[in-house]
Amino acid sequence: MGEGRFDAVVVGGGIVGLAVARALLLERPSLRLAVLEREAEVARHQTGHNSGVIHSGLYYRPGSLKARLCVEGGRELHRFCEEHGIPHPAVGKLVVATTPAEAARLDDLEARGRANGVAGIRRLDAAGLREVEPEAGGIEALHVAATAITDYGAVARALAAEVVDRGGRVLTRAGVIGVRALADALLFDTTAGEVRTAFAVTCAGLWADRVARAFGVDPQVRILAFRGEYRHLAPAVAARVRGLVYPVPDPLLPFLGVHLTRTVAGHVEVGPNAVWTLARAGYRRGLPPARDAWEALAYAGLWRLGRRHLGSAAFEFARSLSPRLFAASARRLMPSLSDADLLPGGAGVRAQAVTPAGELVDDFLLRPGPRSLHVLNAPSPAATASLAIGRHVARRALTLMAP
Ligand SMILES: Cc1cc2nc3c(=O)[nH]c(=O)nc-3n(C[C@H](O)[C@H](O)[C@H](O)COP(=O)(O)OP(=O)(O)OC[C@H]3O[C@@H](n4cnc5c(N)ncnc54)[C@H](O)[C@@H]3O)c2cc1C
Repeated sequence: MGEGRFDAVVVGGGIVGLAVARALLLERPSLRLAVLEREAEVARHQTGHNSGVIHSGLYYRPGSLKARLCVEGGRELHRFCEEHGIPHPAVGKLVVATTPAEAARLDDLEARGRANGVAGIRRLDAAGLREVEPEAGGIEALHVAATAITDYGAVARALAAEVVDRGGRVLTRAGVIGVRALADALLFDTTAGEVRTAFAVTCAGLWADRVARAFGVDPQVRILAFRGEYRHLAPAVAARVRGLVYPVPDPLLPFLGVHLTRTVAGHVEVGPNAVWTLARAGYRRGLPPARDAWEALAYAGLWRLGRRHLGSAAFEFARSLSPRLFAASARRLMPSLSDADLLPGGAGVRAQAVTPAGELVDDFLLRPGPRSLHVLNAPSPAATASLAIGRHVARRALTLMAP
C-alpha cells in the first residue's frame, strides 16, 4: 500500500466503524478518510455473526445511549435497507413469560418500551399470544409487530460501498499493529504498510481495549468475549414459526436468552447462548491464543464478574455441552419441539466491556484519546443502532479534530 496520508482513519470494518466512516463523510465531504480492517473482508466478526434482528428498543434503560440510538438508528436502518434493496421484513416479536414471576417482569419491559417510544407494544394473554405464534408456549407475552430482521453483513457491505462512493477508502488486510504519535499526526504500523492520519476513530469490537491501549489510552475496561452458539430448526419444524420468540430476559445480564429467530435467509435459528470464552475470536471450543488467555486471566474484573455470576456461567457451559439442555431451553418457548428438531448451527462472539470491579458495562461507551476517539463498548443493539451511533460518534470526533 505504501504510506497513506489521511485526515481521518477509522480502525475496524464492522458495521459501527463503517457507519462512523459514512457519517464522517456525510458531515464533512472533503475529508480524506480510510477504514482499516485487519480481515480480508468487512463484517467478518460480530457484524457477520449475529441474529439479524432490528431491535425495537424494548429492553434498554430509558435515557441511555442504547435506548435513544436503538430507536433512532432502527428507523434510519429501515430507510437505508429500502434505498439499498436489502430485505428488512417486519416479522414481529413475542417476549413470552412462562411463569407468573416472569409475567410480572413483563410489566417492567413494557414500561421501558413505552418510555423509549417503541410503537405498537401489545400485552397478550395465552390465547392472544397463540394467535400470533400458534406453537409458542407461555402464559402471557408482549408483542411488538414492527420488530424486523435483516442481514447485517449486507448492510455493512452497502455502507462500505457508500464510503468508497463518497471518496473514502476501505482497506482490508490492513490490521493496525502499532501507533506512534508524531508532532502533527499519528503514524500507524499496519499489516499493509504505514498509514499517517491527523485523527483516528477506533471501532475494533473484540479487540477494542487492546487497540485503544496501542494509542496510549487507558481504556479502564477490558473486553471479555462471550460466544453465542446457535442451532437451527429442521425445515419442516421451522415452517411452524412465524417470527421471533424470546424469553423474558434475566435483568442482571445483558444477554437476551436463547430465542427463536426467523432469518432473512429463511431459516429459524435457536440461540444464541452466552458462553464466556478466553479467545477473543473464540468461535469454537479449543485452546485460546496465549495473549488472549493471559490478558483475561490476569484481569481482576474477570474474577469479580465470575464470583457474581458463577451460577449462570456454569449453566451456560453445561448447556453448551449438552444438546438436550439446549433443546430444553427452546422447548420453554415452543413446547412441541423434540431434541431431534434442533440441528447444529454456527456461532458468533460478543465483545462485552467489563470494569475492574467486575461489572458488565451496560451502555455504549466512548473514550477520547490523543488525536483519537475510541468506541469501547458496542454490544447489541449496536447493529440496529449503527447508523445513529455512526452519526453520534462522527459528530464527537469532528469536535475533537482540529478545524
Ligand atoms: C451472537 C450475536 C448476536 C447478536 N444479535 C444482534 C441482533 O440481533 N441485533 C443487533 O442489533 N445486534 C446484535 N448483536 C450485536 C452486534 O452484532 C454488534 O453490536 C455489532 O456488530 C458491533 O459492530 P462493531 O463494528 O462494533 O464490531 P465488529 O463487527 O466485531 O467489527 C470490529 C472490526 O474491527 C476489526 N479490527 C479489530 N482489531 C483491528 C485492528 N487492530 N486493525 C484493524 N481492524 C481491526 C475486526 O476485524 C472487526 O471487523 C449480536 C452479536 C452477537 C455476537
